[in-house]
Amino acid sequence: MLSDKVDHYNEHKTELKNTPAHYKKEFDWLKEVDSLALANVQQNLRAAYNKFFKQGAGFPKFKKKGHRDSYTTNNQKGTVAITDSTVKLPKIGHIKAKFPAMINGLIKSSTVSKEPTGKYFVSLLVETIATTLPKTHSNIGIDLGLTDFIVLSDGTRVANPKFLSKLQSKLAREQKILTKRRAVAKANQRKLSDSRNYQKQKLKVAKVYERITNCRKDFLHKLSFTLIKNHDVIAIEDLNVKGMVKNKKLAKAISDSSWSTFTTMLNYKAEWYGKTLIKVDRWYPSSKTCSNCNHLLTKAELPLSVRIWNCPSCQQKHDRDINASINILNEGLRLATLKTVGTTGLA
Ligand SMILES: [Zn+2]
Repeated sequence: MLSDKVDHYNEHKTELKNTPAHYKKEFDWLKEVDSLALANVQQNLRAAYNKFFKQGAGFPKFKKKGHRDSYTTNNQKGTVAITDSTVKLPKIGHIKAKFPAMINGLIKSSTVSKEPTGKYFVSLLVETIATTLPKTHSNIGIDLGLTDFIVLSDGTRVANPKFLSKLQSKLAREQKILTKRRAVAKANQRKLSDSRNYQKQKLKVAKVYERITNCRKDFLHKLSFTLIKNHDVIAIEDLNVKGMVKNKKLAKAISDSSWSTFTTMLNYKAEWYGKTLIKVDRWYPSSKTCSNCNHLLTKAELPLSVRIWNCPSCQQKHDRDINASINILNEGLRLATLKTVGTTGLA
């Protein structure tokens, strides 16, 4: 479909409105798949095309088979359903499945994906009613720690889980071996797809990577839920994660992307459970301000290496990260009040 769209555009400079139905005669195997799965691909392609023309995104790319394979289909009156031990999919029927939790609500769609480890996952989009959590009359500021994962304004430090750093070193080791195997295959002028040692190692790397991803997600889900449950207003720094993720160091890159996932989780969980998440501008000098008297230090006065400092103005002793998180909380509460006043003012 993409190829025909491209040809048509080159010739007529307009968009070809083709549908999967046009291809069923030529490609018999399209009849094996359920029609909604095809319709979703068509929709994705149109969305990518519109993004290219209207929002200046990159030109839609061809999907490579075997790389992040997945498909999405919609539930039509029970065509997608679950039992205790199976999931039912159109044209496939019931397949054995394990669910981590009860699924309550109306299933809207399902996406089946194949992971690099060879495992299959089904993800279900469910419409449900979110029940808000009770108010706690407690607010919290969160600072992204340098050595810890996060530091809270109440003085709590949440460390990066130990197993994560162990798995990270394991990943680095296995990746080194993979690089060697690639070099060996190249030296022997063998295709990577034919090199069994390389393929075996590639699967090993994928498995470690999958474990890291799952452990990390589990840690972030539990942590974000605890924070949302225990506090009403949660203030965080709005970091420029795009710039951060470019960092080449593995451990750093993982912690940066953790932060981005973490703020996303806080964001939607706050919305689900009726709490408030406030993002504080990343230029706000949370580290360099004294949370006691508001005295502002210069960059030279507080280099990154200084973890504990005394305020030259009020003499208060500060832990760098805790002081920053207190400032983030105060600034967050100030912004939250502005917001509330603004809304009532309008009403
Ligand atoms: Zn001070």
